Amino acid sequence: MSITKDTVMALRPTAFEVQSETDPERTYRVQLPDCWCPDFRYRRANPPEGRPARLEDFFCKHLWQAFKAAGWQVPVPRPDYEGLGTTAARKLLMARGAVRDTVDRQLTATGSLGGPKRVRLGDGQDATVWFDRFSGKYGVRLPA
Ligand SMILES: [Zn+2]
Repeated sequence: MSITKDTVMALRPTAFEVQSETDPERTYRVQLPDCWCPDFRYRRANPPEGRPARLEDFFCKHLWQAFKAAGWQVPVPRPDYEGLGTTAARKLLMARGAVRDTVDRQLTATGSLGGPKRVRLGDGQDATVWFDRFSGKYGVRLPA
């Protein structure tokens, strides 16, 4: 049997133990393209709201590390919206009449694996906020 590009590809490893960044005592089992961590399960169950899903939305940190360690080409994240920092997201929502406490509570909630949250605006309509853990930025969808 001769070695072709395809046979070399088939020999790349697909199973990894990746150390947790937050807990050095802990490792997560990655069997490409799946990971056994809670973040990965959460991402699979909660596609982004307010924009089309991107491949990297479903990648936990361990999956990125495993793909790179195996020499696979990884997708280059290209946000298709302008992500907002906490201050900019607060300003945007409060400029539309949202109550400060509500804004702070919902930004905190979505930032800690809470999924997309609604924020009531001054005109009675709802904005949707979400947190993109890859970029560390908030997204805000305002009603039309
Ligand atoms: Zn993971």
